[in-house]
Amino acid sequence: MSEYTITVIKNENPKSKPASDELKFGKYFTDHMFIQDYNMEKGWHNARIIPYQPVALDPAAMIFHYGQTVFEGLKAYRTKDNEIQLFRPNKNMERLNRSNDRICIPPIDEEFAIKAIKHLVKIDSDWIPAAEGTSLYIRPFIIATEPYLGVNPSATYQFIVILSPVGAYYESGINPVKIAVENNYVRAVKGGTGEAKTAGNYASSLKAQEVVAKEGYAQVLWLDGLEKKYIEEVGSMNVFFKIDGKVITPQLNGSILEGVTRNSVIEMLKHWDIPVVERKISMQEIYNAYESGKLEEAFGSGTAAVISPIGELAWGEKKIYINNGETGELSHKLYDTLTGIQYGKVEDPFGWIVKVSN
Ligand SMILES: *Cc1c(COP(=O)(O)O)cnc(C)c1O
Repeated sequence: MSEYTITVIKNENPKSKPASDELKFGKYFTDHMFIQDYNMEKGWHNARIIPYQPVALDPAAMIFHYGQTVFEGLKAYRTKDNEIQLFRPNKNMERLNRSNDRICIPPIDEEFAIKAIKHLVKIDSDWIPAAEGTSLYIRPFIIATEPYLGVNPSATYQFIVILSPVGAYYESGINPVKIAVENNYVRAVKGGTGEAKTAGNYASSLKAQEVVAKEGYAQVLWLDGLEKKYIEEVGSMNVFFKIDGKVITPQLNGSILEGVTRNSVIEMLKHWDIPVVERKISMQEIYNAYESGKLEEAFGSGTAAVISPIGELAWGEKKIYINNGETGELSHKLYDTLTGIQYGKVEDPFGWIVKVSN
């Protein structure tokens, strides 16, 4: 089924590339993009790599009205030996198809998509920055393109992949962030779309983010949508707590996004024989652990930030200070190991690395 045929049209007018120290997150885009169409008769077809360009859509295209869309996020890394590698791209493509299923988008061919991503990354490989901590962010996404205002799944789609060189998330090593626990708005509820990587989850999160940003907090920590007691995740990261020598992360419950980084953290902890459990955990339990001096570390995990230590949690009037606002030993070790594997500096005992060049 997945014979790999793809048309390539080279960009004859490549852009000038930003300097490594100008890179932010998702601000610059490379010279090419991948695009593939879907219709009922042909399924997914007409895969092509073309010059980066605007997408022309009918104003009635269903994506604009009902948000039928999914996305992914992964990175390509340049190693010291100038090799280019991806981190667990199969996990992202599996998740893309789980998101597709939830939003009634037809499944993609995962193997074909990984080949296309590698091909695109290779064509734009000059865009992959080499400076410490930089990488090429890969954004695959699917949009509903049928011009129709009825509420049902679109009959046509486009699968697109764009690339963006990104800077080091932390300018001076890893710095703990201040997080506000959200007691008013909710991100998702069980049965909703929380476990799908879809635009609507982000649109609904903006308000809470805007409110806490004014008070100096970097992100919100979401609680469960029913009782607002149990911890779900932080912004676009999954969350971990180290309490009395044990690592705890909220168990997947239908409203939490299953992060590739989350899964990798759990695997690394198991590999090191550090106790790790996935279970329901309440904010009250975190507060009690803090008061009894047992809350040792807290951190978020995600592709963009890798490991993001939490230095302070504001829970209504209560403030929780973690590890004196400093990066904990375990957070540091996880960050170093994960980035070490991604950049080819340390051995990958897990088989997570997929090389682009071959
Ligand atoms: C993408 C995402 C994450 C992190 O997933 P990774 O695969 O680790 O990058 C966590 N939470 C939300 C809501 C996300 O969209």
